[in-house]
Amino acid sequence: MKLTEHFSLEEFSCSTTAKRLKIENKIPDHLMANIQFTANKLELVRKVLAHPIIITSGYRCPALNTQVGGSPTSAHTKGLAVDFHCAYGDPKQICQRLIASGIEFDKLIQEHNQWVHIQFNPTGHRQQVLTAIKQNGKTIYLPGLV
Ligand SMILES: [Zn+2]
Repeated sequence: MKLTEHFSLEEFSCSTTAKRLKIENKIPDHLMANIQFTANKLELVRKVLAHPIIITSGYRCPALNTQVGGSPTSAHTKGLAVDFHCAYGDPKQICQRLIASGIEFDKLIQEHNQWVHIQFNPTGHRQQVLTAIKQNGKTIYLPGLV
C-alpha cells in the first residue's frame, strides 16, 4: 500500500529479523496515523538528501523490539522512527545535511557510523541530535555529532 509518492506501508513493517524469527510485525490500525505522519516527514528528508531512503527498520512490534534490544519506549514501537541509509553519504554526512537544512525532527541519531535513526513527534519536535557509540560493549549516546 502506497503511503506517499516514494514510501509504501511494506517498507515500514518489513524486517529481516522478524522474518527469521517468524514474528509477524503487523502494524496495528491505531498506529496507521503515526506511520502516515512519518512517511510524510520522510518525503521531506528524501527531498533534502536528493537520493532514495533505504529503510532498514521502521515499525517494530513489541516482540520484535525486544529481540533487537530496543528500548521499551522506543519510537519504533509507535511507528514514529526509522533507521535508514542513503547513497547521499555516510551517516554523519547525512546528519550534517539534515541539520543544515533546518528540517524538523524530534531526534536524529548517528548510529555507530552504520545507519541514521530519525524520529518524529506529531505533538512537537525537539531537534535533538545524538551519536551512538559502543563503549565496553554497551551502546552509549553522546550529545551532538561526534
Ligand atoms: Zn532506530
